[in-house]
Amino acid sequence: MQLYSKETIQHLQARVFELFTTESTHTFEKFIDLLSIEIQQFLQIDGCVIYLLNEWEEVFQLRAGDSYEGLTLHDHVSATDISWEESTLWYKNEPFNPYKKTSIPYVKSSSIPLMDKEKIYGFLLLSQQVLGEFDHHLLNSIIEEVSKAIHKIRVLYSAFEEKRKYESLYKGTSLFHSSNKSDEVLEKVIETLRNVYPQFNYYLLLSQDYAPSSELPIKNLSYEKDNASQASTQAYLLGEMQMEYQTQEGQSILYAPLKGKQGVYGVLQVVSDHALYFPETYVEFFDLLSQDAGKALENAQLYQQSRRLNSDLQLINSTSKHLNSTMRLTEKITYMADRIDQSFQADEVGFIIFEDDTHSDFTISEGSSAFFNIKDSRTFIERIDRTFMREEEAVFIGDLSSKWEGHCPFRSLMAVPMKDQEYLDGLAIVVHRDPYYFSFESFKLLQSLVHHSTLAFANSMLHEELERTIITDYLTKLHSRNYLDQQVEEHLKQDENGHFLLFDIDNFKRVNDTHGHQVGDAVICQVADIIQTIIANQGLAARWGGEELAVYLPSMSFEEAHALAELVRNSVSEQSCPPVTVSCGLASWDSVHLLDVKQMVKQADQALYVAKEFGKNRIVKA
Ligand code: GH3
Ligand code: MG
Ligand code: MG
Repeated sequence: MQLYSKETIQHLQARVFELFTTESTHTFEKFIDLLSIEIQQFLQIDGCVIYLLNEWEEVFQLRAGDSYEGLTLHDHVSATDISWEESTLWYKNEPFNPYKKTSIPYVKSSSIPLMDKEKIYGFLLLSQQVLGEFDHHLLNSIIEEVSKAIHKIRVLYSAFEEKRKYESLYKGTSLFHSSNKSDEVLEKVIETLRNVYPQFNYYLLLSQDYAPSSELPIKNLSYEKDNASQASTQAYLLGEMQMEYQTQEGQSILYAPLKGKQGVYGVLQVVSDHALYFPETYVEFFDLLSQDAGKALENAQLYQQSRRLNSDLQLINSTSKHLNSTMRLTEKITYMADRIDQSFQADEVGFIIFEDDTHSDFTISEGSSAFFNIKDSRTFIERIDRTFMREEEAVFIGDLSSKWEGHCPFRSLMAVPMKDQEYLDGLAIVVHRDPYYFSFESFKLLQSLVHHSTLAFANSMLHEELERTIITDYLTKLHSRNYLDQQVEEHLKQDENGHFLLFDIDNFKRVNDTHGHQVGDAVICQVADIIQTIIANQGLAARWGGEELAVYLPSMSFEEAHALAELVRNSVSEQSCPPVTVSCGLASWDSVHLLDVKQMVKQADQALYVAKEFGKNRIVKA
C-alpha cells in the first residue's frame, strides 16, 4: 500500500471534477458508477462499491461496483436495518460488511457512510483481499473528498431533476390556463402527471354533474360516509390533501383537491401500487400541480358558466318572444316541448293542465310527446303529482327508481309547476330513462323557461276561451254565423268541393204563437241537436239567425250531402215536439262551379225560398 500525499488528493479532486465536467450528460447513477471505478484505480484496491438510498422504497441500493469479480453483494439492504455511529456503519447492530455472506472470508472491507446533514443517504464500501490496514489518516482524507464530491454532484443532479419536473409543471400549468374547456384542462393535467411520474395511476374524482366528452380517467366523487371514500370525501370537503397508506389492495393513495378561489372542483387521485410512503418532493409536486389545475378548472368553469348563462338568457328571451306572438295554446306547447327537447335531450316532455284545485282531473296538452298520449301516462302523472308536487315547488330527481315502488318507466325527472294567479294550474314534466341524466343547470334553466312561458300559456287559454264564447251560439251551442262564415272561406281555399245547406223551420211563428217563446226556443234547440248529431264531424253547423240553421259539408258528393239533408228533414219531422218540419236550400261548389261565400249563401237562400214556395218540408237544390 502506497502512501498518499497532499498532491495525490489534489489529483483525485481534479479527476472527480473532470469526470463531472466531461461526462455531464450522464445521469447521477452513471456518474457514481464511473466514480467507483476511479476510486478503485486511484486507491489501487480490489473493489469499491457505492450504495445509495432509494427514498421511495426505503432501501439502500447498490449503485456501482456490483460486478466485482468473485464477490456477491446484497444489491439492496433495508434502510431500517442500517444505523451508524460516527464513521462506523452498523447492520442490525453488527459492523456492516455485505461480504460477510460470501465464501471469501479474507476480504477486508471498510464502509463509510455518506451524510447529508444528519441524514445518511448512502455509503461507500472499499475492499481489499490482501491483509493489512489502510492508512487511516489518509484514507479519511480521501473519504472526505469523495463524499463531498458525491454530495455536491447529488445536489446538482437532483436540482436538474427538480428543474425538469418543474419545467414540466410550468409547461403543463401554462397549458391549463390557456384553455377555457374543463375537459382540455383535465386532459392536460393527466398528461403532465403521466409525463413526470409515469409509475402511478391517476384518476379524477368529479361530481356526477360532470359529463366529460373525452376519455378521461374520471370516477364519481362519492359523498357517502363509507370507509373507502372517506379520504377522498375529506379532500373534497376540507380542500386539503389526504393520504391512504397500505390499503387492502396493497396500494398507497394520495388525494389532492382541485381547489380554486371559490371552491373545490374535484379531487385528483394518485394511486401507487407500492404500499409505501410518498416522498416529500412528490407530495409537493402533486400539491402544486393540483392547486394550479384547480385554478385553471375554476377559470374554465366560470367561463363556461358565463357562456351558458348567456345562451340560457338567449334561449329564454327568444322563447318568450315566440310565445308572446299570437299563437294558439297547442302551438305554444308544441313549440315549448320542442325547445325543451332540444335543450335537454329529454326522452319525453309533457304539459299537464289540472281542471281544478283538487287535481283530481287533468288534461294532457296537445303538443306533449308520445308517452303522454298513452293511457299509462295518466297513472304516472297522478303519482308524480301526488308524491312530489305537494309543496307546489319544482322537483329534480336523479333516480326515481329509488323513490318508486314497482315499475318506473323513467329514472330522471324534472317537474315544474305552471301556476298563474287564477287561470292556469299545470305541470311541465321532463323525463329520461337513464338515471342522473339532467344536470342541475338544466333544471334551473327549465324552471326559468316554464316560469316565462306560464303567462303566455294562460294568455292563450284565456284568449281561446273568449274566442269560443264568440264562435258558439249561446242558445243552440252550434257555431256562430260569423265563425261559419270564416270557416267556409277557409274551406273554399283548401277543399275540392263542398255544400252549403240552409234550413228554416216551417211556420215557426205559429209555434211561438201557440206555445210561447220559450217552447219556440226549445224547438230551435231540438232542431239544432238533430242537425249536430247527424252531421257530427262531417261538417260544421251554425245558427244562421232566428230559426234558420246552416251547415257546411266539405269534400263529399252531392248525393251524400243531399242524403244528409234528407236525414235531417226526416228526423226533424219525426222527432220534434211540438212537431215541426224544416225546409232546406242546398248550394254546391266544385272545381267547375266555383263560388265565393256570398254567392253560395245567396244560392242556398234562393233555393230555400223555392222550397217554401213549393210547399215546405222539402229540399231544393240551387
Ligand atoms: P216560414 O214557414 O215561411 O218560415 O214561416 P215562419 O212562421 O217561420 O215565418 P218567418 O221565418 O218569417 O218568421 C220567423 C219567426 O221566428 C219570427 C220570430 O218571431 C221568430 N223567431 C226568430 N228568432 C227566434 C228565437 O230565437 N226564438 C223564438 N222563440 N222565436 C224566434
Ligand atoms: Mg225564417
Ligand atoms: Mg220559418
